[in-house]
Amino acid sequence: MRVTHSEFVISNTDVAKCPKEPLAEYAFIGRSNVGKSSLINTLCARKNLAKTSGRPGKTQLINHFKINKNWFLVDLPGYGYAKTSKTNKKAFQQLITRYFEKRQQLISAFVLIDIRHQPQRVDLDFMEWLGTNYIPFAIIFTKADKLKPLARERNIKHYLEKMREEIWEETPPYFTTSSLHKTGVEEVLTYIDQLNKEFKNTP
Ligand code: GDP
Repeated sequence: MRVTHSEFVISNTDVAKCPKEPLAEYAFIGRSNVGKSSLINTLCARKNLAKTSGRPGKTQLINHFKINKNWFLVDLPGYGYAKTSKTNKKAFQQLITRYFEKRQQLISAFVLIDIRHQPQRVDLDFMEWLGTNYIPFAIIFTKADKLKPLARERNIKHYLEKMREEIWEETPPYFTTSSLHKTGVEEVLTYIDQLNKEFKNTP
């Protein structure tokens, strides 16, 4: 799939105000600075659709974009920013919990992980929460250009092993992307395209 049309629809803090149109929806989430805005812009072949934030942890909004007039891409706020206040963290948790619990048309979340980093508790816990709540997700390992191929393989293998050691019998689908080199994005879009087709064929 190629993204030929992308438009911003709405930003809000209230899941009740999310678009009502019954289109398939995919939510992108990860720690601040993981490369989420860059990836969304690369997926959509746009420079500034998602705003790369200079103040991580400040914008706690659910951002809806309509892609190819056919599905929603949702940019969720980044989590795990150390300097965020307790009140902010709580507001974030409520926002995210409500979003995932209420949004019926969500087909899959994409959890973004910086490929360079060791598995972090906050990401593992978040994915565990998704699993416990039966919310399908895939992992996107970002910033692949920062490592040589062997180191990439090693880190991914280590990450999935860590997940298996914890609660996961089966690890989720995963992708490896670089917004700098624009690699891996086609695979993500093909995956979304497949899921969109399944969604359309579901009575
Ligand atoms: P967000 O906070 O998750 O939305 O992250 P951003 O997209 O704003 O990116 C955070 C920083 O990582 C910025 O300095 C980006 O230029 C950089 N970055 C994002 N994606 C990549 C990538 O694929 N490769 C490299 N080398 N840097 C990246």
